[in-house]
Amino acid sequence: MKAIKITSPFHAEITEVPKPEITAPDDVIIRVTSGGICGSDIGIYNGTNSLATYPRLIGHEFGGIVEAVGPAVTGIEPGSQAAADPVLSCGKCYACRIGRHNVCRNLEVMGVHRDGGFAEYVKVPAKNVHLYHKKLDESLLGLAEPYTIGAEICKRAQIQAGDQVLIMGSGPIGICAMQVAKRQGAQVILSDLVKERLEKAKSMGADETVLVPEENLEERLEQFTDGEGIPVVVDTVCTPASLEDAVRLACPAGRIVCLGLKDQPSKICMADITKKELTIVGSRLNNNCFGEVIAGFEDGSLNPEQLMTKAYHYTDIMEALTMITEHPKDVLKLVLKFEG
Ligand code: MN
Repeated sequence: MKAIKITSPFHAEITEVPKPEITAPDDVIIRVTSGGICGSDIGIYNGTNSLATYPRLIGHEFGGIVEAVGPAVTGIEPGSQAAADPVLSCGKCYACRIGRHNVCRNLEVMGVHRDGGFAEYVKVPAKNVHLYHKKLDESLLGLAEPYTIGAEICKRAQIQAGDQVLIMGSGPIGICAMQVAKRQGAQVILSDLVKERLEKAKSMGADETVLVPEENLEERLEQFTDGEGIPVVVDTVCTPASLEDAVRLACPAGRIVCLGLKDQPSKICMADITKKELTIVGSRLNNNCFGEVIAGFEDGSLNPEQLMTKAYHYTDIMEALTMITEHPKDVLKLVLKFEG
């Protein structure tokens, strides 16, 4: 079968690899129909993803049609449309034991630490397979995973109906988090440096948007919250300064979600955390969020068809990578199609 392999930074190739076979009783083989290209795939391609090792079959956002199942698998029938959770955990460490397997100390993510789903077929343990119940366009089957990032953010922020939320950054993660927060009854204001990204967010349901270079974010937040200050801040910008902004902007008793993977420190005053009794949490990958996301796809509250900017045949991977690097303002999520 064919797969997309990054052999070393800046070297992507379509390569022939053995088709996966059922070897364990709980194996599921998926015929991949589509995958979403993520910033972390770009990072593996251009050598800036510190977690990556080479060569690597990339792709952690993927889905398709169940092709075959191992003898111990129940409830997953060949022919079903499915999404795959790329998170693999040990089940034994502290995080796993308390139900936080997405931060397992032996964590492996398909497409990052081990081979992933940008291939004609992929093998996934049954517990990582999540079925769609309503028929979805095949190009969208890989887009549950980015929405699970948004669902995890909302869970970590303990978002409830009526909460007012600032999401800094209107890229794919910001927009997915916004749609999940809206689905849970929150009011969301998004900020970004790029007008087109905010227009997209607005068209997908953001209550308000703030174009940071031209508007005063603090004033807009005062208006948005009737002077109370913003209780939930999600930082998808992920620079040292954006986390400082989040700590400054959050109101007393506020919650802040941190998503960055940079190793540079932010200058945060302990007094800001103490005086406001802030809750600052990290959010990584997803912890059993596929069911909620698939429900959102099926009730129409989450819109993967609007997240997808364009679909490319997987053999045009270089064209897709060039589009993302040269026209970042015009791209929200590119999809690779694997059929035929
Ligand atoms: Mn991703």
